[in-house]
Amino acid sequence: MAGISEILENNKQWVASKNAEDPKFFHRLANGQKPKYLFIGCSDSRVPASGITGTGPGEMFVHRNIANLVVHTDMNLLSVLQYAVEVLGVQDIMVVGHYGCGGVAAAANNKQYGLIDNWLVNIRDVVRLHETELLRLKDEEQRLRRLVELNVVEQVRNLAKTNIIQNAMRSDNPPRLHGLVYDIADGVLKDLNVDGDQVFTQMEHIYATEAPEAEATSAATPAPAPRADLKPTPKPTPKPAAVGDNGQ
Ligand SMILES: [Zn+2]
Repeated sequence: MAGISEILENNKQWVASKNAEDPKFFHRLANGQKPKYLFIGCSDSRVPASGITGTGPGEMFVHRNIANLVVHTDMNLLSVLQYAVEVLGVQDIMVVGHYGCGGVAAAANNKQYGLIDNWLVNIRDVVRLHETELLRLKDEEQRLRRLVELNVVEQVRNLAKTNIIQNAMRSDNPPRLHGLVYDIADGVLKDLNVDGDQVFTQMEHIYATEAPEAEATSAATPAPAPRADLKPTPKPTPKPAAVGDNGQ
């Protein structure tokens, strides 16, 4: 108890100040949430999601893990993503990396850390995909900073591979995908200007799938009515695969 007494005292003061500012503050929040943003960030204690984005309670849905990874077998991430997109209807999804990320640095060396090595494999995959560019950077600090950025871009791509985003991007109100990097040395949040629409369209012909019920309908009926939540899927134009092509 003693270890968190300060936390509980802070909470009392926060409740008092919020009630003093706005007596209906908690009552409003208790009635539900409609956040505009989904934040996927690193668990690092120096990257507080609300603080660096100036968002308050109710404004941003948050998922954090080591090195802000979007892993397709991570039920936690996938559940957060599905709920945020399909139930809450968030408009902007941000993958937020940060310079000085311990997870990225650990993945960039060859030491063993135990169980977490399996998680870090996802960052080593980013290294493999961008090895040529990374090897060109002779300064280790510069190389790590670039790896942090490339990791964010790849995690945005990983988002676009999920059927949750593939379906949402073909809906009437598609969410926007963003890649950002936070600098813990100066507090600045930088937009990497990842073109979420381009990322989506580059991969659509490979990752877009049809929901099972739509498939069953089309098998039973020659001319099915289009589903309200899906725009017609354009015929894919497969690009010839090139050896070593990183544009997955
Ligand atoms: Zn980190």
